[in-house]
Amino acid sequence: EPRIIGLTGGIGSGKSTVAKFIEDMGFPVYYSDIRAKEIVNDNEILKSKIVELLGSEAYNENGNYNRKYVASLVFGNDELLQKLNQTIHPAVRADFENWVSRQSSEFVFKETALLFELGLDKECHQSILVTAEDNLRIKRVMDRDGKTYREVETIMDKQMPEKDKIRKTVFIIYNNDGLAELRTETEKVINKLIRQEETA
Ligand code: ATP
Repeated sequence: EPRIIGLTGGIGSGKSTVAKFIEDMGFPVYYSDIRAKEIVNDNEILKSKIVELLGSEAYNENGNYNRKYVASLVFGNDELLQKLNQTIHPAVRADFENWVSRQSSEFVFKETALLFELGLDKECHQSILVTAEDNLRIKRVMDRDGKTYREVETIMDKQMPEKDKIRKTVFIIYNNDGLAELRTETEKVINKLIRQEETA
C-alpha cells in the first residue's frame, strides 16, 4: 500500500509544473482534473448518470461530453453544479483507487485543484500546497491562457482563500521565483516529506 500524497494549489500556482518535477524524481502522479475530463467520456455508467441529471444534450451526436453546454446549464445554478460534482467525484475516486492499486512506488501523488474544497486531504497521508503571490499567478495564467487580468481574478476569488489553505498544510512550496528555483524547492520539500514519513 503506497503512501498517498495530495498535491494542490489555486489557479496558476504552478501545481502541474511541480507535478512534472515530482514525476522527474521518479514518483507516479495521478492528475485528477485531466482524468475527470476523460472519465466523463469513457465511463458508461457515469455517462448515463450525467444524462439522467442534465439530459441527453449533455453529450453531442458523436457521444462526446458537451462541456460548453454543461457549463451554460450549471452557470449560476450552484445546486445543479453541486449535483453534477457529486456525480463525477465518486467515479474519479474509484478510478484513482484503481490506479493506486496498480502502482508499486512507496509514494504516489494525487494532483487536484480541489483537495481541501472536497475534503480529499483527509484521504491522503500528507498534503502539499503550491502557492505564489496573486499577481504572479494572474500574470502566468494570462500568458498561458490568453485570459484578461479580470478573468483570472474572478476565478481566483471563487477559490478557497490562500491563507486558509496555508493553515491546513505542513508542506508548502512557494513559487515566487523562476522555474529552476521551483524545481529545487520541490526536491527539497519532497525529500523532507519522505524523511518525515519514513521515520513516522
Ligand atoms: P491551473 O490550476 O490553472 O491549471 P497550475 O497550478 O497547474 O494552474 P501551472 O500550469 O503549473 O499552474 O503554471 C501556470 C503557468 O505558469 C504555466 O504556464 C507555467 O509554465 C508557468 N509557471 C509556473 N511556475 C513558474 C515560474 N516559477 N516561473 C515562470 N513560469 C512559471
